Amino acid sequence: MTLATTLTQVPVKVDNDKCIAEKGCTVCVDVCPLDVLAIDHVTGKAFMKFDECWYCLPCETDCPTSAIHVDIPFLLR
Ligand code: SF4
Ligand code: SF4
Repeated sequence: MTLATTLTQVPVKVDNDKCIAEKGCTVCVDVCPLDVLAIDHVTGKAFMKFDECWYCLPCETDCPTSAIHVDIPFLLR
């Protein structure tokens, strides 16, 4: 798995204004079958830790504040 170094280029984007991870939410981290999402304990927000994704979408659909957007590559749509 490639470590995601540039957050702007990963397919899963987290809207930090909406993410409530600092209040204890870990839903996206818990539902991701690949374990590629994590909570950044400095910012208190979720982020994509590894640039690997099945585009299965539970992170986006289960996020209670709709903070996650998954960019599905055109060829997979
Ligand atoms: S599920 Fe949504 S609100 Fe919760 S940690 Fe993930 S991005 Fe943040
Ligand atoms: S779309 Fe699926 S694999 Fe990709 S980050 Fe979300 S839960 Fe994980």
